[in-house]
Amino acid sequence: MLSYIDARQKVIDVAGTTRRSLLRESVEIEEAFGRVLAREVLADRDYPPFNRSTRDGFAIHSANAVAPGAKLQCIGELRAGGAFDGVIGPGQCVEIMTGAGVPASTDAVVMIEHTKREGSTITLERAVISGDHIVGKGSEARRNTLMVAAKTRLGYAEMALCAQVGATRLEVFAKPRVAILSTGDEVVDARTVPGPLQVRNSNGLSIEVLARTGGAQTVQIGNAPDEKNALRKEIERGLEADILVLSGGVSMGKYDLVEQVLAELGAEFHFTGVEIRPGRPAVFATCREKLVFGLPGNPVSTMVTFELFVLPAIDRFSGTVARALPIFRAKLATPVQEKGNLVHFLPARIEWQGREAQVTQLPWQGSGDVVALAIANGFLVIGPERPQISPGEWVDVLPRRGAI
Ligand code: AMP
Ligand code: MG
Repeated sequence: MLSYIDARQKVIDVAGTTRRSLLRESVEIEEAFGRVLAREVLADRDYPPFNRSTRDGFAIHSANAVAPGAKLQCIGELRAGGAFDGVIGPGQCVEIMTGAGVPASTDAVVMIEHTKREGSTITLERAVISGDHIVGKGSEARRNTLMVAAKTRLGYAEMALCAQVGATRLEVFAKPRVAILSTGDEVVDARTVPGPLQVRNSNGLSIEVLARTGGAQTVQIGNAPDEKNALRKEIERGLEADILVLSGGVSMGKYDLVEQVLAELGAEFHFTGVEIRPGRPAVFATCREKLVFGLPGNPVSTMVTFELFVLPAIDRFSGTVARALPIFRAKLATPVQEKGNLVHFLPARIEWQGREAQVTQLPWQGSGDVVALAIANGFLVIGPERPQISPGEWVDVLPRRGAI
């Protein structure tokens, strides 16, 4: 059986080499958050496009005012966006605002806070060095140089940069399509009243939210009963998408039929179990050139295995690299004891005390306990090498996506 790290790498490798045409589309910049850029964005001009003052103050030539106490005559005013046509001679300066272009005959800006003004006479209180408080034309970027590379997932900073260079219509990769199929005779739609021994389908929703926020578009297939023909029919529908995510039906039970049906459809299995709890029976296969994930049906197992294994596939199918798993270290607040040779992902509450993260394990009834998970904002990640951990020790934690 694979470790979760190897299983994740397997997904990244398989998703990266699966033959598939990456479609492109063009979107308005406002619609581009989270999308993956298909065509790079270049600088349309130098940045800054002019020598820009970064302070409110006075533009001078430094050669005229190296020593504190120097006195200069202010001969004009320069606002952001405004031009100054005159020449600033020795002993002269102009008042300048943040964001204005520094006149050609000057090479430094003195902050207003470092001057005294009497009428038009400006007294400098500090020495001035050439280049002070000026960001030179082209010093951030040269015209036609790369601003945002292809394959970048667009966040607010990248989008602001696109807006700055006037790239308001962007070529992005089409979102991969994820089909979602829940399985189980006992599972009913969340909008119906369940019988006494039935449960509502919550995995359909958690998978949909995780897939969408991960950058995919989703297709809900609903729920298939634990019966081979019906299950095969729904799986075949799901294989029309790029990635099929099933929940339930991958354990050892007599009516866990997902693997069997996938095998009959000619699936190639990459793994049929991972050394984690919850989530041990997770399945990853290729079927008809589509990726298929069979996630265990217990809701916490479904969520953990989606985060670990399906998200990197969505990334690769979106045309970009798989995002790293954001595991970090926190100080354990209460003792933890876990037996066995698996890596445990335990619902936990992560809080910050100043700069230090502290983590507390939450009581839970196992991988079906969504009540605990809704209180948790992350998971303790505990390997088999640490069966017993005391308060104050450092442990790995994985934030719950969107909760921190
Ligand atoms: P399974 O993986 O099919 O053995 O299911 C494990 C547990 O998860 C069972 O208790 C199921 O009732 C529950 N379960 C399966 N699918 C869902 C679902 N879509 N929503 C909520 N619970 C589910
Ligand atoms: Mg089941």
